[in-house]
Amino acid sequence: MAAVVIASRNSHKVSELRQLLAGLDIEVYSLHEFPGAPEVVEDGDTFADNALKKARSVSQYAKLAVIADDSGLEVDYLQGQPGVRSARFAGESASDRENNEKLLELMQGVPARLRTACFRCTIALVSPTGLTEVVDGVCHGRILTEPKGTGGFGYDPLFLVPELGKTFAELSNEEKNAISHRGRALRATLPIMARWMQEGLL
Ligand code: IMP
Repeated sequence: MAAVVIASRNSHKVSELRQLLAGLDIEVYSLHEFPGAPEVVEDGDTFADNALKKARSVSQYAKLAVIADDSGLEVDYLQGQPGVRSARFAGESASDRENNEKLLELMQGVPARLRTACFRCTIALVSPTGLTEVVDGVCHGRILTEPKGTGGFGYDPLFLVPELGKTFAELSNEEKNAISHRGRALRATLPIMARWMQEGLL
């Protein structure tokens, strides 16, 4: 059976991605099944650099097709920060809470109309033979002045989706997948995966 490895140890992400791939006749693994896979330092300047680096490294190790994503929050008022530094915005091993607090601090006093932001997700796909493809997904929203909602992870409680009047942390997995940066990027990978399956590459 065709197989793909999601190059992540983040259970939230793995379950979001698994749900989106459920329609394809494909075995889906994560790094939980490959605990010995090499750690990749995400030191690239762009989401694409990091996603490709992760996908290539895991694919060489697992000898399977790999989907790797890199994602983050880009706040317009902060010239695109935290961007590729989203996970470590408040320091190398910062918690979600610390990152959110730093963001709120930097946005203190900034009026609502200037609080626009987007989540961006870049996904790299690498076939077992080393073919690569890169796709992007974006979701626009606004940064609240205080957290709202208890679901999700990362900056979810601060990210308001204006059309829904809810933050990412107030959405179910399905609702989030339907509009999120990651959902959009992953849906863009589906035709590529389908083509690779048809060509016997997976
Ligand atoms: P990475 O793609 O795992 O490197 O994600 C980097 C960081 O971006 C995460 O640690 C979060 O802080 C943030 N991030 C990425 N996607 C999301 C999301 O869907 N919700 C909230 N935060 C996110």
